[in-house]
Amino acid sequence: MKILTDIHMHTVASNHAYSTVHDYWSFSIDRGLQLFGLSDHAPDMPDGAHAWHFGNRKVLPRIYKNVAMLRGIEANIQPPGGGIDIPHNMLPYLDYVIASLHEPVFPPSSDRKANTTAVINTISSGKCQVLGHLGNPNYPIFYEEVVRAAKDNNVVIEINNSSFTHSRPGSKPNCVKLMELTEKLNWKVSFSSDSHSAFTVGEFATSIEVAKSIGFPESKIVNATAKRFLSFLAEHGKPVASELNEWSKQFSE
Ligand SMILES: [Zn+2]
Ligand SMILES: [Zn+2]
Repeated sequence: MKILTDIHMHTVASNHAYSTVHDYWSFSIDRGLQLFGLSDHAPDMPDGAHAWHFGNRKVLPRIYKNVAMLRGIEANIQPPGGGIDIPHNMLPYLDYVIASLHEPVFPPSSDRKANTTAVINTISSGKCQVLGHLGNPNYPIFYEEVVRAAKDNNVVIEINNSSFTHSRPGSKPNCVKLMELTEKLNWKVSFSSDSHSAFTVGEFATSIEVAKSIGFPESKIVNATAKRFLSFLAEHGKPVASELNEWSKQFSE
């Protein structure tokens, strides 16, 4: 199983991340990725990037040394009812949005029903394409309801490799359950490193191990190839899909 894109990583635009755009580009090239996507924390997160960071990425190239870069964001699901911290005028600058629950923004709650409602409201806002690290045990959720809503709205479930290694301890059994449910309901996931330094870009080892152990097929990983991820963004009407269409023709599906 080979995953040729990584769509979740943070740059020095946040002080708690340590790599630059250039670092991510050179590590992506070295590791044979076709594409990577920046997804700095949206402004509501303490230490999130300033709004201008997201608006000015047009100064960066789309392609360098045949590796493409997308301009994403990791948005914050809003308490108590859901939705994200992205104003409408910022959306045109974003190739995709990952929506996540983060403790400093959304206080952890054991209210499974309320957490589920917040996530489903976020999905149905139509503003996000990916749900970030849902396996976090600080937010119990009715997974089946969420996966069904995600499928109905063409939003994918992120399997976050750092949830298996050093972030959000206790996530693993939840992530396994989420993958099993996603497979059962015939839906899709994205694989991501959630890198805060370029040393981990393209690292999906534990996610791949889990996928193999439960027989989760590569065909349902929406970012396994650049072409597949761009087709997914085309389904969401994102202009970057046509911008990179010619470039992506060199790769297989
Ligand atoms: Zn972070
Ligand atoms: Zn996050």
